[in-house]
Amino acid sequence: MKNVVIYDSTLRDGAQSQGISFTVADKIKIVELLDEFGIDYIEAGNPGSNPKDMEFFEIIKSKKLKNAKVIAFGSTRRANIPVEIDNNVNSLLHAGTDHVAVFGKSWDFHVSEILRTTLDENLNMIFDTIKYLKNHGKEVVFDAEHFFDGFLENPEYALKTLEVAYDAGADSICLCDTKGGMFPLDIFNITKKVVEKFNCEIGIHTHNDNGMAVANAIMAVEAGATQIQGTINGYGERCGNANLCTIIPNLHFKKGIKCVEDEKMKEITILSRRVSEIANAAPDERAPYVGRSAFAHKAGMHSDAVCKNTRSYEIIDPEMVGNERVLLLSEVAGRSAIIGIINEVDPTINRESEKTKRILEKLKEMEFKGYKYEGAEGSLKLLIQKVLGMYKPSFKLIEFKVIVNEPSVDDVNSSALIKIEVDGQEEITAAEGDGPVNALDNAVRKALERFYPEVKEMKLTDYKVRVLDSNSATAAKVRVIIESSDGNEVWSTIGVSTDIIDASWIALVDSIEYKLNKI
Ligand SMILES: [Zn+2]
Repeated sequence: MKNVVIYDSTLRDGAQSQGISFTVADKIKIVELLDEFGIDYIEAGNPGSNPKDMEFFEIIKSKKLKNAKVIAFGSTRRANIPVEIDNNVNSLLHAGTDHVAVFGKSWDFHVSEILRTTLDENLNMIFDTIKYLKNHGKEVVFDAEHFFDGFLENPEYALKTLEVAYDAGADSICLCDTKGGMFPLDIFNITKKVVEKFNCEIGIHTHNDNGMAVANAIMAVEAGATQIQGTINGYGERCGNANLCTIIPNLHFKKGIKCVEDEKMKEITILSRRVSEIANAAPDERAPYVGRSAFAHKAGMHSDAVCKNTRSYEIIDPEMVGNERVLLLSEVAGRSAIIGIINEVDPTINRESEKTKRILEKLKEMEFKGYKYEGAEGSLKLLIQKVLGMYKPSFKLIEFKVIVNEPSVDDVNSSALIKIEVDGQEEITAAEGDGPVNALDNAVRKALERFYPEVKEMKLTDYKVRVLDSNSATAAKVRVIIESSDGNEVWSTIGVSTDIIDASWIALVDSIEYKLNKI
């Protein structure tokens, strides 16, 4: 029986991370991934704070989700105004979600020093806002900001803020360690008091400034909290939020509390990696359960012991979270992960086959060059075809030239000239674009249209660049991942080079070849 609900805030608190910025399309993709995985609540943004979130809520209304309820997030009304005229509160109504979350201050210090209002007015702000939203038929989560800090300094007042929220009709009350400096025993004791006092769902929202976010969230559950707020990969401002990719497996496998279905647990590693890909943030290799090193054993005593009995050095079987055991310096590594994709290209190949071994060797070689095929499955399938001798290029590049003009006129600052060959026939075309890659993309597809009309259906939907760490004296490499769509299918391809145009070209060629090869 499931008795703890997961409340994801990747798109709201997670989006506060340094270096992370989600587009509306990114947010929709993440909602779909979280919903598919079985997350209960998705706090998706603050409609009052920016037009991007408004646009998101407009689009998400029309999507049918299987599990998740989307939540709009905002603050209590401003001081000394009627709630009805508070624009931020009204924007929560207009977001069109059934559920809303409202944060209010529970620490008297914050009320007087930061909000600069009276303690009584803060209580009124909490009450009025929740009451107003309840009167409009919303399910309301009250986020008690800085609750634990407040409780340690002025427990009567901190509890009073919860009472007011409860009396106004809040459906759940979430206790926040907003500063992220609490320790597990304090969290346990304080949460227990709150759980005993209130007859509603009590949540926990912890930050990781002292490295305790996950431990604190679990202690709150031990004390009776039944809603956990956190983010995928622990994204969040400063040191981040409680990492759901650690908490969910901990509860599931170690505490017997199942927040998602058994078979879904096998997808948590891929969920973590997809979200990091969308966030354009390098995955944390050492992340518990889902990191690439979580089940990596170096050759020698440890890997020897793991080969005898995996319990010796593994907290769970990596397959239970869809991760894989990596015996470093061993060719056994990675086979199970790749065999499914190999079979999409050629169903007759099995794990032990010589061909699988050759593919793995090629993969290792490419990874050494900086390629990374999670999130670039289009290129991976082409690579498998190449190793198996099944790949037939649809065209040949003779040459291209790209010219960049600054300043740009009407967003056009680049032109590309390209010469290609298809079955002995040459074609030369030129095209303009917003940036050199866009111009090159326009030119190559224009050149190919005569031979392959179906390239007209394709368009690039996403383009991401990452500079790879350079640990030698040579120039840093860049990794380009592009996502393309023809309206029916979406696929991603990769290119790596010391030159960004070259890396983009490699990814672009794969993208077109993937479409034309219809794997
Ligand atoms: Zn937070």
